[in-house]
Amino acid sequence: MILGLDYSITASLLVMLLIPLYIYRKKFIQKFNKKPDINSFVKDITIYLKTNYPKFIFDFTIINKYSNEANFKTQQMLIIEDLIKQFIREEFVFSTQKIVEKKHLWLTYEENSRLKKDNKLPADWIQRKTEALKRDKNKCNRCEHNVIKNNSYALLVKQMKDGGGFNFENIVILCNDCNRIIKSNYNEKIYHDLHIMDSLLNKIHK
Ligand SMILES: [Zn+2]
Repeated sequence: MILGLDYSITASLLVMLLIPLYIYRKKFIQKFNKKPDINSFVKDITIYLKTNYPKFIFDFTIINKYSNEANFKTQQMLIIEDLIKQFIREEFVFSTQKIVEKKHLWLTYEENSRLKKDNKLPADWIQRKTEALKRDKNKCNRCEHNVIKNNSYALLVKQMKDGGGFNFENIVILCNDCNRIIKSNYNEKIYHDLHIMDSLLNKIHK
């Protein structure tokens, strides 16, 4: 029996299609059989939080609380909300900060460090914030999240009303979220407005 040319071409094409399917069969099976895996979600967010908020100790044992939740997305949401509420609840203790080496100070530094009568910030406040950021290696003092000038806040450890001046020992650097948390007086209701919330929502497994 002589097979026709059409048959040979069809058979060759079929074989060519089946070869990659055979080689990557495990990947295909994984793709179409993918079951929701809470452990891999937990692993992702644990790595993310430990890397991006290294000073903050999250209690990951709370994950067990939501183990009976049938809906995978809801389960992930509940875990995220719990972790963020932990992040909000932790009260920050304002403490005296490190000094800045004398070589980085400027002529009017001492004079401008003193409180002004009008309770306004000194003219060189931005310069002070920049130096304080360098001193703290661009990290938030509460959570050690990486910050830049535009997404960080410089706060006074001892308030002006209590006689606190603008010297570096009295300037503390905070990230956007930590500043917001402290200003809200650790109100858990603000969790939806935090950047950490957006970042964790992006980690949700579909
Ligand atoms: Zn922070």
